[in-house]
Amino acid sequence: MMTTASQIGPGMVPAAHGKAVHVARGQSIRIISLHGTQVVDTWAFNADDPSEFMSMDHTRSVNSRITVAVGDSCMSNRRRPMLHVTEDTSPGIHDTLLCPCNRQLYEQLGCTGYHRNCEDNMHEGLADAGLAVPFTPAALNIFMNVPVHADRTLSRLVPETKPGDFIRLRAEMDVFVVMSSCPQDITTINGDKTPREVHYVVEE
Ligand SMILES: [Zn+2]
Repeated sequence: MMTTASQIGPGMVPAAHGKAVHVARGQSIRIISLHGTQVVDTWAFNADDPSEFMSMDHTRSVNSRITVAVGDSCMSNRRRPMLHVTEDTSPGIHDTLLCPCNRQLYEQLGCTGYHRNCEDNMHEGLADAGLAVPFTPAALNIFMNVPVHADRTLSRLVPETKPGDFIRLRAEMDVFVVMSSCPQDITTINGDKTPREVHYVVEE
């Protein structure tokens, strides 16, 4: 398995694209909402064995919560902590329930040509890091506003995040964190239907 030196410092995920970033055990990644309403679909893979990945199913099960909050760990499919939420200056609204957008979703929304999507962004980001997996896990949809009502139905609302809000995640093992600036520009899940760049900082 390829090993990549830690990329300490700031970086940027271009609007509607994806990026994989190596975060060593003990380091943190701060994912920053530069413009306020951009959703960031986020995955994590064990850097030594990407068949171990961050699992929203196991995360919900361990935390007994449908989102993640400070003090929670995002768990792997092998029920081990991967990312620990250490700080969150946003309203704390993140989705673990809905699927990453993919090519078929945009076809069903009426797109006739290729539409960028979070699923392809994840695989492109991994490929740039020299990795590949034959599946697409559910993502932690950071800043995505999907409330669950008393009758157990869902709504899709505009993010409540303000510019500059961030969530800080500490790596509990060596991981690649993959972020996608969600390209959704047909619904209002990203606010004003304009995908925007996402900033991040990897720090000790
Ligand atoms: Zn998306």
